[in-house]
Amino acid sequence: MKRKKKKMKKKVKILLFFLLLLLIVFLLWNSTKIVLKKEVSVSLNEEAKVENLLKNVRRGTVLNKEEALDTSTIGEKEVKILFKTFLGFQKTYKVTYQVVDNESPVIHFQKTLTTAIGKEIDLLKDVSASDNSRETVSVFVEGEYDFNKIGDYTLYYVCKDRSGNEAREEFILKVGDGNTSISSNESTFTTSKGFEGVVKDGVTYIDGTLIVNKSYSLPSTFGNGLTTETTNAFNKMKSAALLDGLNIYIASGWRSYDRQVTLYNNYVKRDGKEAADTYSARPGYSEHQSGLTFDVNEVSDKFIGTPEANWLSENCYKYGFILRYPNGKQDITGFKYEAWHFRYVGVDLATKLYNNGDWLCLEEYFGIDSVYKD
Ligand SMILES: [Zn+2]
Repeated sequence: MKRKKKKMKKKVKILLFFLLLLLIVFLLWNSTKIVLKKEVSVSLNEEAKVENLLKNVRRGTVLNKEEALDTSTIGEKEVKILFKTFLGFQKTYKVTYQVVDNESPVIHFQKTLTTAIGKEIDLLKDVSASDNSRETVSVFVEGEYDFNKIGDYTLYYVCKDRSGNEAREEFILKVGDGNTSISSNESTFTTSKGFEGVVKDGVTYIDGTLIVNKSYSLPSTFGNGLTTETTNAFNKMKSAALLDGLNIYIASGWRSYDRQVTLYNNYVKRDGKEAADTYSARPGYSEHQSGLTFDVNEVSDKFIGTPEANWLSENCYKYGFILRYPNGKQDITGFKYEAWHFRYVGVDLATKLYNNGDWLCLEEYFGIDSVYKD
C-alpha cells in the first residue's frame, strides 16, 4: 500500500511538472504578440504604412513595418502583417483597415457676378471644383434669383463628393439696370481715413496697395507664386543682411488657395476653430496667396529676439517690406505677433509704416478693419 502511494505521488509530481511547463510555454507564446489600434482608418491618398496600424509590439518584430498601405480608393482593405517572435517563429496576421474620405471638395469661383436686367448669364461658366478623391465632382447653384428683376441675390455653389463631404460657398449675383458698366467687375469705397479703395475682380486695393486680411479676401484662383518685385527686393535684402553676418532665407513663400484649405483644416482639427483663427488664415484670407508675402527662417516664437529678427525689424523697410503683424497689434491686424512674416508694399509705404521703429500696421494706416464677417 505504502509503495503504491509513493508511486502515485511521483506520477502526480511528473504530471504537475509537465502542466507547469505547458503553462510557461503557453504564457511565453501568448506574450509575443502585436496589438493593433482600434478602428483603424486612414485618409484617402494619405501616405500610410503598416506601422500606422500597430499600437504595440511585444517580444518580436514586425518585418514589413515600412510597407505602404493602399489608400488609393475608399473602402475596407486588407494587409498581411509579418511578425517574427523573439523565439524566431513567424506568424502572419491578416488585418483590415478602412480608407475614408473626410475632406470636402474645393470650389473655385468668383465672389460676385454682375449682369444687366434681362441678360442671362451662365452662373457656372468660370466655376470648377477639385476633390482629393481625384474623381470628377460637379457644382450646382442653390438659391433663388431672377434675371428679370434688379437686385443682389445671395446664392451658393454646392459641391459634394462620393463620401458625402460637402463644400458650400456663398456668392452674389448682381442684376443691375444695364446703365452701370457691367463689363468691369469693379466697385469703389472710401476708408475711415479717407483713402480710396477699389475692388476689382474680387481683389481689394487701397490707395493702390493690395489688401488681404480677415475683412478682404482673394478669389480662390488668384496668384501663382511670389511676384518678381517681391523676389528681387528679397534678394537685395538678403545680400545686405549677409554683409552684417546674418543668413535670412524664405521658409514659406507663396501658398495656393488649395494649400491653405488643407493647412487651415488641419489646424482646426488640432486646436479648434477659435484658436486656429488667431494664427492661421482661412482659405482666401491668407496674405501668402497674394505673392507679396513670405515667412523667413524659423516660423515660431523662438525667432523673436534673434539677431535676424531684430535686423529685419530695423531694416526691412529699406527694401520695401513691412513687419506685417507687429507686437501688440493683434486686435487690429487680427493676427498675433509674427516676427517672421513680411509683406512687400514698396519702399515709400514701408518707410511710413516703419514709423521710426514704432511699426504701424496696414489696418491702422489705411483706416480699415480685419474681422471675419461670419
Ligand atoms: Zn506668414
